[in-house]
Amino acid sequence: MVIISLLHDVHTHRTIDVFNPGNNFPSVSITGTKCDLSCAHCGGQYLKHMFAADTPTKLIKLCFELSKNKVKGVLISGGCNNAGAVMQDEYLDAISIIKQKTNLILNVHTGLVSKSQANALAKTCVDVVSFDVIGDKRTIHEVYGLDNTPEDFKNSLLSLKRAGIKKIVPHICAGLFDPAPVLSHERTQGHRNPLYLAPLP
Ligand code: SF4
Repeated sequence: MVIISLLHDVHTHRTIDVFNPGNNFPSVSITGTKCDLSCAHCGGQYLKHMFAADTPTKLIKLCFELSKNKVKGVLISGGCNNAGAVMQDEYLDAISIIKQKTNLILNVHTGLVSKSQANALAKTCVDVVSFDVIGDKRTIHEVYGLDNTPEDFKNSLLSLKRAGIKKIVPHICAGLFDPAPVLSHERTQGHRNPLYLAPLP
């Protein structure tokens, strides 16, 4: 991932970093190709293109190796569990160790988090948290198969912010819900070109 431009608003003094994902900022899945939701949006397809590190020890080893190969940072992602969470508590120590022993920028994809999980994640000194915001109940239920509400996503986002994580990047994926009767992996594999927006809070 390379910064391709740096925008600074002279009126609000807010800065927008623009990144171009690339080989020097690879993605790692802490669940390998497994996702309990296997949702209608991707059916686990995204995970196939990530490095796999499905234990904390493997994650540390992989990040140490990557840091020796001029990698700038790593996106730590993975599939969701049935509660809509990506980040698992057993990886927090590994993230702390990677932050302490390498210069890697760590961007963690959390999924839904509780207040205590957000606080624990903040203590690892992770650099960036990427958070998928789903604000439509039907999309949550029918595309992701989760029994949550938009309020749960809002509360997770607020917990991350209140925990003191400085850079939170909400990912807003527009156009996921389609009222067509069939929501299948076959359809999503047809690449319907969803629009991705990632504003900074
Ligand atoms: S929940 Fe995420 S990783 Fe799992 S299938 Fe859906 S988009 Fe892919």
